[in-house]
Amino acid sequence: MSTPSYIIVGSGVFGASTALALIRKHSTASITLIDRDHFSAPFRVAASWDWNKVIRADYGEITYTKLGIEAQHLWRTDPIWKPFYHESGVMWISPSDFGEKVLKNFEKLGVKVDIRGYNVQEARELYGGLFEGADYTGVKQVLVNRSSGWAEAKEALMNTIETAVGLGVKYVAAEVKAVEFEGARCCGVKTASGELVTADRVILCTGAFTPKLLMNSAPEWSDLHAGERIIAAAVTEAIAPLTAEQRRILDTMPVAINDNPTEYGCELGCLPLPNINALKYWGQIIFRNTLEHPVTHTALSTPPPKSNYEQWDVPLTLKYDVRRGPGSMFGRNQFKQELDKFRICWEALTPSEDFIISPHSACKGLYVATCGSFHGFKFLPVLGKYVVEMLSGELDSELEKRWAWDRELPSVDGNSKWPKKELRDLSVEK
Ligand SMILES: Cc1cc2nc3c(=O)[nH]c(=O)nc-3n(C[C@H](O)[C@H](O)[C@H](O)COP(=O)(O)OP(=O)(O)OC[C@H]3O[C@@H](n4cnc5c(N)ncnc54)[C@H](O)[C@@H]3O)c2cc1C
Repeated sequence: MSTPSYIIVGSGVFGASTALALIRKHSTASITLIDRDHFSAPFRVAASWDWNKVIRADYGEITYTKLGIEAQHLWRTDPIWKPFYHESGVMWISPSDFGEKVLKNFEKLGVKVDIRGYNVQEARELYGGLFEGADYTGVKQVLVNRSSGWAEAKEALMNTIETAVGLGVKYVAAEVKAVEFEGARCCGVKTASGELVTADRVILCTGAFTPKLLMNSAPEWSDLHAGERIIAAAVTEAIAPLTAEQRRILDTMPVAINDNPTEYGCELGCLPLPNINALKYWGQIIFRNTLEHPVTHTALSTPPPKSNYEQWDVPLTLKYDVRRGPGSMFGRNQFKQELDKFRICWEALTPSEDFIISPHSACKGLYVATCGSFHGFKFLPVLGKYVVEMLSGELDSELEKRWAWDRELPSVDGNSKWPKKELRDLSVEK
């Protein structure tokens, strides 16, 4: 049987990693990677296009611990990713039992990592007292994993795509308007300029845009739609340029993540950006943008309609959200920083925070590989391997169930990552 041809829509981590793994496996296959932005564009809407991102295997859940260990091995050793990986350590300040779960997972797997828990007094003294004034409310144990770190995100993503292109993947910068069908079979995609691009297999790696793309493609075909499986959700981030005096922390500080103050939502955090002498912060409020679909008239959360997702138009409320970071991490009175370059980053989130890497059950030839659920970036080196296994029906049965298009959806009650707030409500400036 001849090798099928492939279209991958979306060149974030899922699409880039898939393109690389596919061309490595099928060196003569026709593989087209389509994204609305060129991979070297100065700004992209991809959640994967970012300043630095956290790379860790610290998970309360053992499947992602194993996956994180596998990915981290490649971050440390593979020439594609190694230049962009920095093992600074990660410090977790949390009143929950997250630290205990992480420690147990490494123990269960028998993996040696440089990790330990500290009481609050000890934590205040770490890193020359840098986090002395952090918000430790309710915290019993601070976890520090010195075997975790961060990666230069857009640089690592670009190198992955360039490597795939160098091996024969065709990159097309175009907006995909719709997935195309012949009966109940997917046969390609149509671009905004009206061009039909055909292939035997179409893989959607379209992140937060996935629910809208599916609904736009066939408004009357409800079985094709994402329904409750995926929600487009967002978090705000920003950078804090450092003064010459402050910059001394950049070479030695870890990534720092704090659940406090817990009343505002999810965890917040910061990580070093030594290339630009700054820190990156992200906020605690996870929100959605529910609009009525113009054809189906159903409510659908989707990134704002402009092609740049209006990612740089950040309402004041969300700026305040990120501005809580410096106080929570370093204390109110020390280490004063002004935040700049606020960005809203859109992501595809599932109720269980598991990815979707699966054939689409309603449509032959169509596959979905996305839904990083705010933690997908670190798996860049290994995602493609699992997508290729899924395509050839060789995915481990536990992962196949976990990442299936059709799976039982857990309740989102009490899930701090599930977006309850609407962008339009947060946009009322106070
Ligand atoms: C603020 C923030 C911080 C994060 N920090 C971390 C972290 O530190 N560590 C970590 O591991 N994870 C992190 N994540 C999660 C991680 O960034 C995502 O899980 C991951 O990047 C998602 O990758 P993706 O390929 O599914 O989607 P994306 O990266 O969003 O890529 C989707 C691509 O599809 C393209 N596309 C969509 N629709 C179309 C269309 N119709 N036509 C053409 N192209 C289209 C888009 O242009 C985009 O390039 C973070 C997420 C956010 C939001």
